[in-house]
Amino acid sequence: MTLNLQDLYREAILDHNRKPRNFRKLEGADRTADGYNPLCGDKVKVYLKIENDRVADVAFEGSGCAISMASASMMSESVKGRTLPDVLALFESFHALLTGETDAGSRSKDLGKLVVFAGVREFPIRVKCATLAWHTLRAAIHNRSESVTPKSGSASQPAPATTASQKPSDLRRRIIEALRTVDDPEIPVNLYDLGLIYDILVEASGLVTIRMTLTAPACPMADALLWQVDKTVRSVPGVTDVMVNLVWDPPWDRSMMSESAKIQTGLS
Ligand code: ZN
Repeated sequence: MTLNLQDLYREAILDHNRKPRNFRKLEGADRTADGYNPLCGDKVKVYLKIENDRVADVAFEGSGCAISMASASMMSESVKGRTLPDVLALFESFHALLTGETDAGSRSKDLGKLVVFAGVREFPIRVKCATLAWHTLRAAIHNRSESVTPKSGSASQPAPATTASQKPSDLRRRIIEALRTVDDPEIPVNLYDLGLIYDILVEASGLVTIRMTLTAPACPMADALLWQVDKTVRSVPGVTDVMVNLVWDPPWDRSMMSESAKIQTGLS
């Protein structure tokens, strides 16, 4: 059985990498998101067209290793036509399959063909390659208003932690402390106080999704910086997985800096 699964896995990766399905820019997409895997250099952009709470169409573009591209291709095939709650449930199952939270058997029938990715579990460094498209898909689903995000200055910062569970908010605080140890390469202030971290989503499973930007789109240090953010947040106890989504909307400007950061740089 295991050997068989490994064979199917190799076959699926080769096939989908050679002929990726739905690899194109989707005209008229109403939701998009960009994902980046600093561990491997994989990049993917996911396009969605949502109608009546259902994925009417999905496409992707990107570059990266065979696993990342094959996974994006299979993701696009798997979610087309599904309802959004169904897609998010599938994300959970897929993520659990790869990170080993539950045994593969109990979830395999929901996952269909995707179960071949259980083979990736034996190569932990590649898990991120396989989950990138799914994390990006989920970001796109939640990015309903990304292109129309109002620039609301300081009002965009509060993001209160849910009171329902104390654990995530405590973890969130530790993540913020960790992010405060990472300085921007161009402005000598940490990323958090610089206002580059737009959003920190902490889930009960320990999965952390960070939406962030950089001071300039052409930042030559971008890859190294994202890698550092990933590594820093991953090292916080309680964090099981990290996804960093780099966004350019809203564009960063100096008004987003914290008061102390403005004083520190003499910009107050
Ligand atoms: Zn990869």
